Amino acid sequence: MIVTLREDSDAERVRRALVERGLWVRRLRSDTSVAFYVDPASSAVAPEELRRIEGVRDVAVPEVPWPRLAEQPVVADLGDGVRLGIGAPIHLLAGPCSVESAAQVREIAAVLSEAGVRVLRGGAYKPRTSPYAFQGHGEPALRWLREAAEAHGMKVVTEVLAPEDAPCVAEYADLLQVGSRSMHHAPLLRAVGAQERPVLLKRGMAATLEEWLQAAEYLRLAGAPVVLLCERGVRSFDPSTRNLLDLGAVALLRHVHRLPVLADPSHATGRRDLVLPLARATVAAGACGVMVEVHPRPGEALSDGPQALRLEEAATLAADVTACGHGRTP
Ligand code: PEP
Ligand code: MN
Repeated sequence: MIVTLREDSDAERVRRALVERGLWVRRLRSDTSVAFYVDPASSAVAPEELRRIEGVRDVAVPEVPWPRLAEQPVVADLGDGVRLGIGAPIHLLAGPCSVESAAQVREIAAVLSEAGVRVLRGGAYKPRTSPYAFQGHGEPALRWLREAAEAHGMKVVTEVLAPEDAPCVAEYADLLQVGSRSMHHAPLLRAVGAQERPVLLKRGMAATLEEWLQAAEYLRLAGAPVVLLCERGVRSFDPSTRNLLDLGAVALLRHVHRLPVLADPSHATGRRDLVLPLARATVAAGACGVMVEVHPRPGEALSDGPQALRLEEAATLAADVTACGHGRTP
């Protein structure tokens, strides 16, 4: 931000007023006027507050490069009272990595719904690293997932992997997921946005915040009514965990950009025993929802078994997350 001063103002008094608000400022001089440059990292103070300081003529703010995202609603209404976002109750979104069979998702949905989970996840189209790994059952899996969810009044989130699949997936899902590997895939973003459904956009595993938010802007521009961002860990130098959960990004999106952000501690850590503590950490940082993978018998999972919570662990986490209520306000 640039704070410009009136000609007759006391520049030192204005500087002190800015500094008292925790702002880190640098004086800008010209032959005719004085202004202050406010470092954007110092503190999120509303420009209106600065305009009220005596001696301030104007406060110039940079235009946001994602205007449609900035003006979007901060809550996604999935129907039947399931609302995800800022100010809404914190939800656990849970289910298997891959939808493996009708019976598997039925068993999982029954336990999760009993524990209070309202959004069932599960992959029908899987973005696997190896072309020889299980690729998902496709449309039949979408049907099994939808039936399992409907039997318990749950909502469905599932990934769209290819632009041509977007209309079909939108028939089964309440929330369309764009995966980490697809975040940069502009044609996919356009196709998913065009379904005019709420979208869960996972962060690319090496994407900057700027790139992530621009991907969200693609979705908004194409017609998505609201985009929920999902932090799922980024690539790091240390292989001790599968990825590095970026809690700073969660806090920044929620508290500075005021955007709805969720977190996925399953893919972030790759290990079951770290999912629960990190789920709590993401809520403390400002996440308005947590997505985790669950399997009745993780040892038999067709994908991501090591990070899958057992059913009883997922139920404990659901109670924990739901008890967080509406989340922290800044
Ligand atoms: C998933 O949630 O099913 C998934 C594949 O996650 P990510 O895109 O974050 O790797
Ligand atoms: Mn997975």
